[in-house]
Amino acid sequence: AKAEGKDRWTLFDTERSATEVAQFRLSASMPAALEHEEFYVEYQPLVGLRAEDVAGVEALVRWWHPELGRLGPDRFIGLAEETGLIVSLGRWVLRQACYQAKYWQEEFGAAAPFVSVNLAVRQSRDPQLVADVAEILHETGLDPGKLQLELTESAIMSTADEPLEALRELARMGVRIAIDDFGTGYSNLAYLRHLPVHELKVAGSFMEGIRDDEPDPVDEHIVRTLVELAHTLGLTVTAEGVETREQARRMAVIGCETGQGWFFARPGTPDAIRSLIVRSGTE
Ligand code: C2E
Ligand code: CA
Ligand code: CA
Repeated sequence: AKAEGKDRWTLFDTERSATEVAQFRLSASMPAALEHEEFYVEYQPLVGLRAEDVAGVEALVRWWHPELGRLGPDRFIGLAEETGLIVSLGRWVLRQACYQAKYWQEEFGAAAPFVSVNLAVRQSRDPQLVADVAEILHETGLDPGKLQLELTESAIMSTADEPLEALRELARMGVRIAIDDFGTGYSNLAYLRHLPVHELKVAGSFMEGIRDDEPDPVDEHIVRTLVELAHTLGLTVTAEGVETREQARRMAVIGCETGQGWFFARPGTPDAIRSLIVRSGTE
């Protein structure tokens, strides 16, 4: 019986470590993957709810893994945060996105969309952040006003004074700052007025209750309140996760400036974005 028990533990250990080993391998292969350009960026438009123009474009990273195929960020961003690779991966995404936005800036001038890049907690605490952003803007020639950085509430709230100073410095350079997934964290709403923020992105989780058949009055009330507060503070609002025409219409009525979601477009290639910009400009 003792031997049997021991075997069971061995079996359990083996099973657990199979996943751990897989995760570990994935982590360990990330630096080489970055070097071999296995990562790529897709773009999803932030569409003006009135003019239906492409106001901005969010950069979303993907990994084309040689054995596992296409991996979404939910598979590897967490791992990259743990190992710290997120700092160099994030910098790579930022550079990619800024080069791309610069092409749009050259083709469309002032009408070009801004590019919105996600910043992980580790990046927001990186002492090199401001210098990196300044260098990439200089290198690419992108107008700082055409760059937006997205941070989650928890990333902003968990940051000490120094990273907040970094955000202020970025805002002074003309870079837009957005709060991502707004309404899902433990927001300190009063604190908002002291943050160098230009845009709130209302979390997609609220969209479930935004509908014509069975609207959820609480979801709708929360969204209204957030939008009102944002406007009082002079911020613009993007509704995330807009999947239906009803949601787009209701969010426009509530006063959101822009919407992002499958109703408008799935994340896609720069070419797909370009067609959208061209189409919205000629309508
Ligand atoms: P996020 O920043 O909230 O990005 C929005 C996510 O919602 C994206 O998932 C997007 O594809 C998805 N989405 C867009 N429209 C809809 C819709 O109508 N319905 C639904 N259900 N989903 C929609 P994705 O691309 O898988 O990215 C997941 C998360 O990974 C992102 O969430 C972001 O937190 C993170 N991420 C992506 N790229 C980067 C990056 O370059 N750096 C960092 N630090 N994080 C990133
Ligand atoms: Ca985001
Ligand atoms: Ca989001």
